[in-house]
Amino acid sequence: MIKIDGAIGEGGGQILRSAIGLSLVTQTPVRIENIRAGRRKPGLLRQHLTAVKAAKRISNADVRGDALGSTRLEFRPGRVQGGVFAFGVGTAGSTTLVLQTILPALMTANTSSTITIEGGTHNPYAPPFPFLNEVFVPMLRRMGVEISLSLDKYGFYPAGGGCFRVAVKPVARLIPLTLEQRGVLQDVEAVSYVSNLDVGIAERELHCLQQHLTISESQCQAVAVERAQGPGNIMTVLMKYQHGADMVTAFGEPNKRAEKVAAEAATAAKRYMSIDAPVGVYLADQLMVPFAMAGEGVYVTGPLSRHARTNLEIVRKFRLSKIDVEPLDGRRERLVFGKLR
Ligand code: ATP
Repeated sequence: MIKIDGAIGEGGGQILRSAIGLSLVTQTPVRIENIRAGRRKPGLLRQHLTAVKAAKRISNADVRGDALGSTRLEFRPGRVQGGVFAFGVGTAGSTTLVLQTILPALMTANTSSTITIEGGTHNPYAPPFPFLNEVFVPMLRRMGVEISLSLDKYGFYPAGGGCFRVAVKPVARLIPLTLEQRGVLQDVEAVSYVSNLDVGIAERELHCLQQHLTISESQCQAVAVERAQGPGNIMTVLMKYQHGADMVTAFGEPNKRAEKVAAEAATAAKRYMSIDAPVGVYLADQLMVPFAMAGEGVYVTGPLSRHARTNLEIVRKFRLSKIDVEPLDGRRERLVFGKLR
């Protein structure tokens, strides 16, 4: 049994998700205490509980402490079995973070899976669906996993009500990758989505973004979302390089000016473009689990966030691979995954 203190580092939900995900992958029981002790409302929220239940469902696990607000959990996984699954967060909590918990095990399971998840699909503080689809999942494909995603319904915070589907054909062993160079910038694509709001908001944001990033109208798209449950606005900027991509996002809110949303997206995009690293700040923490599973690999990223450093501590505990962090030049770090001695 691996014992994990949920209060270490950032003390957030990532500790729980990575611990459960890797418990499934390595078939090792885990006990997590002080769950989300670093957060204003500690313990399991609906999103985390849905992730735990999903992990239980795919592996027939024996679980203690799986209740809302619980700060202690014991998880003993059974054998992971692919299949057809449907999970619902029940609030606008992030669906993509539920997938983040179970996907590592399902992409190396014995059979294929189809997973449907309902809840929030475009949330702040979580990978929005377009990030998953255009940045994270393409990396998994490069690692040999056959995976496709489809968004059935948008779910913006706070209304939720979104839904997406994933089809995964597993691989026996993930292909190790070396991501050291990103090459030249090939394209920038900006999209502003509005749901139950005037599409003029999206157009204003994009107009403003064009000035900040010196991009043209043909690189911008305003999308008026149909059939969404509540109001919402998200701007995404995808930066495609020769050997990698990143996407930054900014969210609209009541009383927040469209110009401010565009300025936030532009600042985040310029930050990524200013550091010559193929892997962006969020992808850097999300690649740790698949790279550890591959047992080998290298990626270069900007300075690791506190979130990523905390995640690194958890991933190391499962001893799938040795992970070294080498400073490069004060602005970048190189993560090297290799065999444990
Ligand atoms: P909580 O305790 O509230 O659940 P947490 O630690 O689980 O917090 P966050 O720190 O907010 O959650 O991060 C969750 C995950 O979402 C991380 O994997 C992070 O990479 C990802 N993420 C957050 N924001 C973005 C974004 N804008 N784009 C892509 N991924 C993101």
